[in-house]
Amino acid sequence: MASNDLSRRRFLRGGFLASLQSQQIKQQGPRAIRPPWAVNESDFTTACTRCGDCIQVCETQILIKGEGGFPEVSFARGECTFCQQCVDVCRQPIFRSTEEIPWSHKVEILDGCLTKRQVECRSCGDSCEMRAIRFIPTFGKVAQIALNTDNCNGCGACIQSCPVSAIVVIYPEDEE
Ligand code: SF4
Ligand code: SF4
Ligand code: SF4
Repeated sequence: MASNDLSRRRFLRGGFLASLQSQQIKQQGPRAIRPPWAVNESDFTTACTRCGDCIQVCETQILIKGEGGFPEVSFARGECTFCQQCVDVCRQPIFRSTEEIPWSHKVEILDGCLTKRQVECRSCGDSCEMRAIRFIPTFGKVAQIALNTDNCNGCGACIQSCPVSAIVVIYPEDEE
């Protein structure tokens, strides 16, 4: 990649990180993303003591004290590696079996994606270990982004990598 392309991407990324953070906080609002494998919201907030142990052990430091002091995920800080340390450290019965899927959310690509504006970008695809994001060669356009939600495990790696905050978390009920 040309060095001026890299510089531009870094500039864009730096310029948008602050807005990404505030946008994410707004998105989460009352629907905070609990740590992976958390039980339902009501049972979680009933039994969680807000001790902060999970926040301390999270290897990517994506867990923060959210509203009411309950832990929630901030994908603006990074991705979930599914290391399970938050589950293992917790002394309350508020996590499901790690044999189950960790959570039901996925991501969605918004119209602000650079490829939809004919600007070459593959940041999210590079960060997606699940290969849920591909770029389709398209005649007369830059390669267009394509998300396969079946492959998405909701890790959030792509969210932080996007220079224009064009990736957001969606919940199954939003798609109905
Ligand atoms: S599974 Fe690991 S990376 Fe993910 S929230 Fe828990 S401690 Fe953090
Ligand atoms: S959330 Fe994770 S698995 Fe899903 S598209 Fe983004 S990087 Fe890939
Ligand atoms: S969603 Fe963001 S990171 Fe992915 S191609 Fe579009 S602009 Fe780039």
